[in-house]
Amino acid sequence: MKKITSVLLASALLGAALAGCGGNNNADTGNKGNAAEATNSANSGAAGGETPKVGVAIYKFDDTFMTGVRNAIDTAAKGIATVDIVDSQNSQPTQNDKVDLFITKKYDGMLINPVDRTAAGVIIDKAKTADIPVVFLNREPLPEDMKKWDKVYYVGAKAEESGTMSGQLIVDYWKAHPEADKNKDGVLQYVMLKGEPGHQDAELRTTYSIQAIEDAGIKVEKLAEDTAMWDRVKGQEKMAAFLGSHGDKIEAVLANNDDMALGAIEALKAAGYFTGDKYMPVVGVDATAPAVQALQDGTMLGTVLNDANNQGKAAITLAALLAKGEAPTKENVGFDITDNQYVWISYKKITKDNVADAK
Ligand code: BGC
Ligand code: CA
Repeated sequence: MKKITSVLLASALLGAALAGCGGNNNADTGNKGNAAEATNSANSGAAGGETPKVGVAIYKFDDTFMTGVRNAIDTAAKGIATVDIVDSQNSQPTQNDKVDLFITKKYDGMLINPVDRTAAGVIIDKAKTADIPVVFLNREPLPEDMKKWDKVYYVGAKAEESGTMSGQLIVDYWKAHPEADKNKDGVLQYVMLKGEPGHQDAELRTTYSIQAIEDAGIKVEKLAEDTAMWDRVKGQEKMAAFLGSHGDKIEAVLANNDDMALGAIEALKAAGYFTGDKYMPVVGVDATAPAVQALQDGTMLGTVLNDANNQGKAAITLAALLAKGEAPTKENVGFDITDNQYVWISYKKITKDNVADAK
């Protein structure tokens, strides 16, 4: 551990010398300076040389929700693990290189947010060969890949649950507001902003949100659906296009996450919504800080808390235990473990009335 301390010291000095270069413990992994890394060296420093080293690869740093998870990992790592958090820049080959580097450096554990969840199998093969336990998060590996090794875990949230909840937010609004059926045909005309195709959260939120509306006895008509790749700017562009082709026929907007919902709200504002009595129910998922603000402003109808803090905390706690060679249990992880490999964090519906629960 002496070596790590000196590497830390060296990189801290380097960081001090080169303004903007974060004091991370692995300047050579191409980490970008950011809030998460700023406290990284503090974690390691406080460790007194006894905490396991965990390599953390995030699919991309430029993602609002994952930034929350990343910060939670960094905070919860204090005293339990020395984390090296790297940006996979939305490229699976880049992430595979990062994993190879973690293995070369003989880290004790890995925490991976896959770029492509179907690539988890390859990562598991590498981890197993090197005997380095791995915890995946946010992008769920396929069940057959999870079965490849018992030192593989997944921390996430049930995508179906968030879909159902966002649909229910629309149901509640529709039932309380007869005027929401603008053309009075008894059918809910909606548009859908989808996340990245293939991502379990994008696929299942899309399906289950509509299912929940139909289950409530409401007839639906999909006017348009397109992917905005979890992205706010793309959400705005797609919504502007939907408005261009369907205009006032649209009666509700469902988005697989808050960033896309917030983008849609921008496009709606530009089209004159949210002034006077021109309103559009818009729902998202995540309950990020800007979404909570939009709930309070009255532009976003509702969202679903995707608990970044507990996901980050559970993931790093689990990874640290596995890295130390300890068997994770409900007691030492602090979260239920399902089927010996899964930790599921609950979602929660959030509206203007319970925003405090999202903070
Ligand atoms: C979140 C999205 C995020 C995605 C990244 C989802 O669970 O809701 O906001 O972009 O994960 O994988
Ligand atoms: Ca209608």
